[in-house]
This record gives sequence, structure tokens and C-alpha cells, in this order.
Amino acid sequence: MIVILLGPPGAGKGTQAAFIKNNFNIAHISTGDMLREAVKNETELGLMAKDVMERGDLVSDDLLLKLINERIKNKDCENGFILDGYPRNQKQAASLDEIFSQSGKNIDGIVQIDVDFSILEKRITSRASENNSEKRADDNLDVLKKRLKEYVEQTEPLVSYYSDHKNYIVINGMNNISKVSEDIKNNLNKLK
Ligand code: AMP
Repeated sequence: MIVILLGPPGAGKGTQAAFIKNNFNIAHISTGDMLREAVKNETELGLMAKDVMERGDLVSDDLLLKLINERIKNKDCENGFILDGYPRNQKQAASLDEIFSQSGKNIDGIVQIDVDFSILEKRITSRASENNSEKRADDNLDVLKKRLKEYVEQTEPLVSYYSDHKNYIVINGMNNISKVSEDIKNNLNKLK
């Protein structure tokens, strides 16, 4: 099963992707986590991505395409995967369509976590205060505003890009975490 998870920063994508990974035994591919790892290890990719991420901008489409193309060839993706944070704009979505059509893969479902933007500020500031050991350089209000702007301008158009997909699922992300998980699980179970 191949699933794309859509939603703004702070919507709970990481938490729900981890839940889906465990429940459906598929890989969780978070481009944000992969890039943070690269930054931490000071790899060539990390050095290129660091400042861009700290500003809340998007890392180049070409770098992301290379990263994702390699990642989905891993053995842990054989049973499927959930994409968390990719694609993030229409160019990335078109590239993904292309690599999937070349490799005979299909997107089984798109899950959009729908949240009220007014709660995101609160969620991100509390995440910044809780997350002491794995503190993110981009979890602060100024950068959040930039990330939300990027989301609205670049990522939200994917809602219409994918709206014709036969399994476009909208989940109410304002509910508590376990209710959101349950709703996602029930919907994805119908795709199996
Ligand atoms: P995330 O953890 O998904 O919120 O991503 C953190 C940061 O990593 C983003 O603000 C971007 O700078 C970068 N990033 C993650 N995924 C992508 C992507 N698909 N395209 C471009 N930049 C990305």
C-alpha cells in the first residue's frame, strides 16, 4: 500500500504516519526526518539543506527527488510506504507520478489531515518546549509563519492536484490523536 499524507506543519502527520507504519506494516518515509538526519551528520545534502530548513523554506526539488527515488528502492518499502512531507509542491507531485509510472507503482490513497490553522501556533510552540532532546531548529513562531506560508502557497494546491484520485480521504485533525488514528485506520482498511 502506498499512501501520501497531506497536512500543514503541526497537523500531526509524523505521529499519524508512525501509527500507520505500525498498523499496516509499511515504511514511514519522512523527508523532513531524512533531511534533519543529513544535517546532523553534516553530509553533503545536510550542508546544502541546513540554512534553507532553518529559514522555513523548501529544499530544492532536485535534491528531494534524488532522495526519495533512492529511498523507495529500499527493501523496507517492498510492502508499501507512507510519504510524510513529500510531495510538497506540484513539481514534486509530477515527478512522483513519473517515477511511479516508470516503476509500475500506484498511489493507493491520499490522506489529508484537515486542521484549523489557529491551533497550529499553539501546537508548534508546545512541541518546541517539550522536544528538548530532539529540538528542531525550525520549531519557533517566526519560522512557523514561513512554513505555513510555504504550505499555503506550494503544498495546498496539491489538494486540487489529487482531488480526482479515487481514494482521496479527508480526516478531521481537530479530534484527539487516538480518534484521528482510528479514522485513518478505518479508511485505509477499506483500501486493502
Ligand atoms: P517537515 O519535518 O516535513 O516539516 O520538514 C522540515 C523542513 O524540511 C521543511 O520546512 C523543508 O525545509 C524541508 N523539507 C521537508 N520535506 C521537503 C520537501 N518535500 N521539499 C522541500 N523541502 C522539504
